[in-house]
Amino acid sequence: MSGAEVDLYEVLGITNNASKDEIRKAYRKAALASHPDKVAEAEREAAEVRFKAVQEAYDILYDEDKRHLYDTHGMGAFNGSGEPGMGAGPDLDDILAQMFGGMGGMGGMGGMPGGPRANKPRRSPNEEQKYEVKLDDLFKGKTVKFASTKNVICSLCQGKGGKEKAQAKKCATCGGQGVKQVLNQMGQFITTSTVACSTCNGEGEFFSPKDKCKKCKGKKTTEEKKILEIYIPRGAREGDKIILEGEADQVPGQEPGDIVFHIVEDEHPIFRRAGSDLTATIDITLAEALTGFSRVVIKHLDGRGIELQHPKKPGDVLSPGQVLKISGEGMPVKRGDARGDLYLIVNIKFPDENWNPSAEVLEKLKEMLPKPDAPIPADAVDEVDYDPKGNLDEFGAKDAHGGSAWEDEDDEGEPAQCATQ
Ligand SMILES: [Zn+2]
Ligand SMILES: [Zn+2]
Repeated sequence: MSGAEVDLYEVLGITNNASKDEIRKAYRKAALASHPDKVAEAEREAAEVRFKAVQEAYDILYDEDKRHLYDTHGMGAFNGSGEPGMGAGPDLDDILAQMFGGMGGMGGMGGMPGGPRANKPRRSPNEEQKYEVKLDDLFKGKTVKFASTKNVICSLCQGKGGKEKAQAKKCATCGGQGVKQVLNQMGQFITTSTVACSTCNGEGEFFSPKDKCKKCKGKKTTEEKKILEIYIPRGAREGDKIILEGEADQVPGQEPGDIVFHIVEDEHPIFRRAGSDLTATIDITLAEALTGFSRVVIKHLDGRGIELQHPKKPGDVLSPGQVLKISGEGMPVKRGDARGDLYLIVNIKFPDENWNPSAEVLEKLKEMLPKPDAPIPADAVDEVDYDPKGNLDEFGAKDAHGGSAWEDEDDEGEPAQCATQ
């Protein structure tokens, strides 16, 4: 609820008799031009304000009913969230007077008695939420729409809680303070603490059942379903916040708080991210590593195939664990065209037990591939048997003072020396 009234038609740059189609086109143009993600850092705050205004203007003007309300009553017909208030178009000043002037007691808990109104929070609390986003969506950017249920000021009583002419009764339990002092005994000490009055729910006053507003039943707010839209910019990362201003639950007499989404990055099955760089493992067969290939080795987060040609010069081979750095194929950097780098780690797929070469083939391979190093000299030599499927988890396990056995003992909860003191 800002003081100066803006002309919604002006915001979109259209005339008062613009058609729906013209409104939609003007909205697209204005939204694109003022999108916070499309401007430099310094202009971002101003752009966000403009973007919100454009959005609000469109929400109202594109809906025929709302547009009619706006044309006949101006912004007073809306309660700040783009939703129509009473059909008759209440006077904004009346609502404000009612909100700030008409209520005794205090809304919240634990204030100081005597100065209740001064302690009333001026904004309803923000709603903080985690929002899990797939790496693909952080790469491409994404608009998400979802239905949200929130408390809005009751449109019938404008947050009064009672019928139009009804007067709220002062709460006798708390004497209209909304709070009570309670005595607590702690050992031999007696302390007092201030708690919200349960008779009037901390309001200091209430309406008798017959005077309660029919719509909200005296609660002053009603639940409303609303479709919210958030835009996740390209390159956003874990911990980034997306703020929907004023979309938190409405509380009478307070500016609504924001819904704040905290981005949590979902783990990706293939790509790992560090800042704006990405890494992934690619499988290359032994034959490809030795003789070369030209093919798509991985599908990128935007669905493109990434093609590599190997070798770069004849005779080059790929080794297990070798890292191929591809500049500019990492994550996008927010609000810019720059991109991080992609690091591909080579996994050589050696032939498995299904490979069944003939003796001649093996002989040929031996001839063609590089020869082994010189034999290791030793005075005595034993030929030994071995298990080709040894497991390193067993390494040290037989010995109480060996590797994993020692760890188990530690787990049994014997306190470490430094902890006992
Ligand atoms: Zn009370
Ligand atoms: Zn009501």
